[in-house]
Parts: sequence; structure tokens; C-alpha cells
Amino acid sequence: MSDGAGIAGTQAGDPTVPNAPSEVRLSFGFGTDRGLRRELNEDSFLAADPIFAVADGMGGHEAGEVASRECISVLSQQEALAAGSRTATAVDLQQALRQADFRIREVSNARAGTTVTGVVLVEERGVPYWLVFNVGDSRTYRLGQGAFGQVSVDHSEVQELVDGGFITPAEALVHPRRHVVTRALGTGTDTEADFWLVPVEEGDRMLVCSDGLTAEVTDEQIHRALSTLPHPQDAVDSLIQSALRSGGRDNITVVIVDAHNITGGAKEDTLTKPTASAETEDTLPRIPDGNASPAPHHLAPPATTNDSAGPAGMPGAPGSSPLEENHG
Ligand code: MG
Repeated sequence: MSDGAGIAGTQAGDPTVPNAPSEVRLSFGFGTDRGLRRELNEDSFLAADPIFAVADGMGGHEAGEVASRECISVLSQQEALAAGSRTATAVDLQQALRQADFRIREVSNARAGTTVTGVVLVEERGVPYWLVFNVGDSRTYRLGQGAFGQVSVDHSEVQELVDGGFITPAEALVHPRRHVVTRALGTGTDTEADFWLVPVEEGDRMLVCSDGLTAEVTDEQIHRALSTLPHPQDAVDSLIQSALRSGGRDNITVVIVDAHNITGGAKEDTLTKPTASAETEDTLPRIPDGNASPAPHHLAPPATTNDSAGPAGMPGAPGSSPLEENHG
């Protein structure tokens, strides 16, 4: 594994909270690779129970590296995310991400930014949940009880075009503006994270990755690797090798976390309906301000009459500029 800033805890096994109401056990694997075309690895990651996160820096000239590393550093220092803790809420995460946004602006003069996505294992009334968060176009997927799908929703121009019915997901993969993100930390005007709360089920496997994986490897290939390789580190290594074999045009970071020993799990399954229950689900941590809407995947509707401007309030609209990753 080359370069890249990673913070990783002990590879799991033991229940880390004595006498906790549930004793979910996590095992995980992680890896990052510079890829075959980039000079630097601007991805950073964090793999330390209860948080697993990937940040993909942008800005070039090492600025992206600083941005992603700063973001991961801030997350790793949160008290609510201390080793083995199960008490984090979306509010804690949001505060941490705002702090990261501030720090990156401070160190880079807003010339660098980063995406960040990931998952935190939390408990609400003794029931374990995955708290998934996202800003930008790195991704969090879940393989659980036979179902596989992306939990996070990309903040990207092509995602908006797909949502608006203007292009298909297949067209998005080759669209010339596929690397333009519409939210990031440290730069731009839209920095709010989206959150999803997904009940943890026995055998759940979560994948957190940068777009250096998903731009090279299809969801079907990812699904196959996750379903056939029982050890998380083997699956990580296999996915990184697949991305390199198909071109390795970007930095590739992969974190996989498995959950076992689930007792008393929640019955409902919110997978792929990440926020549908947000207004009625009384266990969802509330976001204390209006910016983080309870339906985060509903972006502003795409503009239909002005093809030079993006959706209102999004980069691309007059007065703001899109954030583009530095694809060399
Ligand atoms: Mg990338």
C-alpha cells in the first residue's frame, strides 16, 4: 500500500465496551494505493472502532493531501468517537465535520477541499445502528442479508443529472463532468453532510471507499468481491488490485467493516431508503438546524431552462464555481 494518510486501530475482535447493552463485534480491513497515474496519494482514511471513514482530498500540489489528512485528524480526535464508544450522534458528527471544514480553510486558504464519507457504529436504546455520513462523492455501501447497495448519495453534478432524469447511471460513468463534486469540506459554499441511520444486522458488511475504486470497478464487481471473500482484508486487497488492473487512474482507498454478534437488532430495514423514515423514526438523531434536511438525498431540482447554470444554490449556479478533482 503506498502513501496516503491512514489512521487505523487494532484489527478488531473483542467487544470493546464491557457490559454494553449489545456486544456487537467488528472486524475490519483497510488499504490505500496511490494508483498508477497520480504522483501523490491525496486520500486519507480512519479505521478505528467505532468510526470508519475515507476522505479524498482535492486541490493539487499537495493541498488535497493536507485537506483530507486534516479532516481525518479532526475526526480521530473527537471524544464522542473515542475507542469503543457507541454514543455518537449525527449532531456530534456534524459538529466534527464543521470543525474539519474550518480547519481546512484555515490551513489552505480555502484552496483545498476534501470529500469525506463513512460509518460510525452507534447505539440507540441498546439497538445498534450504522450512522452513515457523506459530503462529496466518496461512497459508503452496505452488503447485508443478501442485499447490496450504495447507502450514501453522491454530491456530484452527474448525480444531479441522474436524479433529474437527464442521463442514466451508465452515462454518468463516462460523463466529462463526472469528477465535479457539488459539496466538499474546506472549500465552496455547500459543506453540509447528509446522514443515514441504518439498523445493524448480523453479518452486515460496510464498504467505505474513494472514487478511485468506483470509477474503475463496477458495482457488480464490488458486490462479487464483498460476497465471496469472507475476510475483510482479503476483500480490501482484491478490490484495490481490481482498480489497479482496470487503470488505477486515481488514488484508491478501501475500508471494509463487518459486524457480528448482533443481539436484539431492529426489525426494520432502511437500506436504500436511507431517509424515508427520518421524519417518523424517533430514534434518528436530530440535526439542530434547517440546513440538514430530513431528506438529504433530495437535492434542489435540476434547472431545466438554463443549461449554463446548475441547480439553484449548487456550485455551477451564478456566483459559485464547481469543485473539480485534480485528475491528471
Ligand atoms: Mg479521488
